[in-house]
Amino acid sequence: MTTHHDPAGTTVLVTGATGFIARHVVAQLLDAGYQVRGTARRASSLDQLQADLAPHLADPGSAERLTIAAADLTSDDGWAEAVAGCTYVHHVASPIPAAPPEDPNDLIVPARDGTLRVLRAALDAGVSRVVLTSSLAAVLYGVDRTGKVFTEADWSNPDDRRIGAYEQSKTIAERAAWAFMEQDAGGRMELTTVNPGLVLGPMYGDAMSTSHEAVKKLMDRDFPACPDLTYAMVDARDVAATHVAAMTAADAPGHRHLCAIDSHSLRDVAAILAREHNPKGYRVPTGKLPGWALRLTAKFDKTAALAVNDLGNPQRVDNTLVRNLLGRPMIDLDTMVLSAAASLEQYGHVAPKRRRVA
Ligand code: NAP
Repeated sequence: MTTHHDPAGTTVLVTGATGFIARHVVAQLLDAGYQVRGTARRASSLDQLQADLAPHLADPGSAERLTIAAADLTSDDGWAEAVAGCTYVHHVASPIPAAPPEDPNDLIVPARDGTLRVLRAALDAGVSRVVLTSSLAAVLYGVDRTGKVFTEADWSNPDDRRIGAYEQSKTIAERAAWAFMEQDAGGRMELTTVNPGLVLGPMYGDAMSTSHEAVKKLMDRDFPACPDLTYAMVDARDVAATHVAAMTAADAPGHRHLCAIDSHSLRDVAAILAREHNPKGYRVPTGKLPGWALRLTAKFDKTAALAVNDLGNPQRVDNTLVRNLLGRPMIDLDTMVLSAAASLEQYGHVAPKRRRVA
């Protein structure tokens, strides 16, 4: 069941609107006819963002329905103004680094305190529902995954030694959000979460996320062979569609939407990239990089260090809630990988290594 509002008269806030996933949420909200207000650390981003989004909108002119308010997760300034008059809030912004920070609190504090700032401002402004972008980082890290299919009842263990700072930050921020709802919201506002796996798919403008790094590293042949890292992956268009559907679906509040297709090895990703791009001069590696080689690299490469816990450790999730919300099959691996690769090429992040052999 869906609650109906007149989109043209409904303002929706999207935090971190300049980010990779948030751009997709903004685009789908504009296509659905809503008035969209985004937050950004610099309000001056509006012109560029509108120009980037316009080619991806059903009606390019609807980019004019987007406005931007300046707000930072680490400060109270601007949040009350950003959320004023909004019926719904998508809280997407959160720091997502390419390498682990020296101090985990560099991620945990903005993620948790920023989430609480947004929820408090939303509650005070009379917002009816918040959709929070959490992550599978808050579901299946720091726990034994053997033989397990994870559901919305499962939580990562932020105190386990196998968990990284980013996964801690997402777990602690989402826990804080549900605790806020229990203790402070007094039934006056609803919360639902979208918990994506590794997000691929096209970039709407040059907003490359950390999740594109895996595709870029393969296309750049950063490794001579492909590590057997396994992830539950998802296309950003499905993440955004889940956000927009969860915003009004009557049965979404109180639920965590685990948003990913089946677990796949990076070797599956490499095979798709090699099939399509090696004939064009890329040298995507498809052989298997032994686990010990990645563990060794991880000792001096922080990005590799982030990944060792995912070696040969499948992420199986129950995505029934998302499939029911979308009412259509989720976007498949080929499509999400090749559209990510096309965007990386379009914005100059990757290029063929050698001229094409005739
Ligand atoms: P992204 O492009 O890096 O977006 C992150 C957004 O957060 C950016 O808009 C960034 O703003 C904003 N942000 C970071 N620190 C901030 C601060 N102190 N104050 C205000 N805004 C801040 O990455 P993304 O992949 O789209 O991630 C968006 C959300 O999805 C995050 O919550 C992330 O945890 C979640 N997620 C991502 C994945 C994935 O695989 N990509 C998977 C699961 C969940 P600036 O543009 O100003 O830096």
